[in-house]
Amino acid sequence: MLFHFKSVKNRSQFKEKGEKMMKEHVLVILPHPDDESYGVAGLIALNRKKEVPVTYACATLGEMGRNMGDPFFANRETLPLLRKQELINACKAMDINDLRMLGLRDKTLEFEDDEYLADIMEEIIDDVKPSLIVTFYPGHGVHPDHDACGEAVIRALYRKKKEDRPRTLCMAITRNREEVLGEADVVLDIKEVADIKMNALRAHRTQTEGMLRELEEKLKNNEPVMATWFEEEVYWTYQWND
Ligand SMILES: [Zn+2]
Repeated sequence: MLFHFKSVKNRSQFKEKGEKMMKEHVLVILPHPDDESYGVAGLIALNRKKEVPVTYACATLGEMGRNMGDPFFANRETLPLLRKQELINACKAMDINDLRMLGLRDKTLEFEDDEYLADIMEEIIDDVKPSLIVTFYPGHGVHPDHDACGEAVIRALYRKKKEDRPRTLCMAITRNREEVLGEADVVLDIKEVADIKMNALRAHRTQTEGMLRELEEKLKNNEPVMATWFEEEVYWTYQWND
């Protein structure tokens, strides 16, 4: 999946915002193994460096994915097991303390009952009691599973009184995200943990190997095409409307 990152004008300001967001327990809730490595590995690694515990709830095993490695080494039967192991390896690379595989079916989250999905998210949130939640911004996930996951998290949080909701940061990856949501209010400088993000992405071999080969070639030739992946992560604080 592709993330469109823009360049940053005022880094010091963002650094300060980034510092403020470090709280005592981070809960990341996303639907697919590799969503966390593309989008949140920097935030996770920076928090782990400060010994803030991180729980990652991954809704599916991405078992319906079409990438079978480049060159192929997976097939429809082996993909779920491979992706499960890749997820575990990526979590090790990011030093995630607590990985929860929710066992939902890939590419079907949008068809699940809304309240049922929210119940699952609520149970995790109440158990972890996070100070910070990271998920997809509903309507800005591009993939239906991304939107359904973000919606379920937000629905679960709306069940709580406003003052009891943890800070909620969302990834938005639609092209019109800034037109609709405004500029990202959190831009995290992740350069100091870029190697950890690269290792997390590498762990998802079936999904990333071919892409990373091209990326490393481009980096070697000083083409700045995707270098921002390893420089910053951008998030939108969820805007409650109650
Ligand atoms: Zn995904």
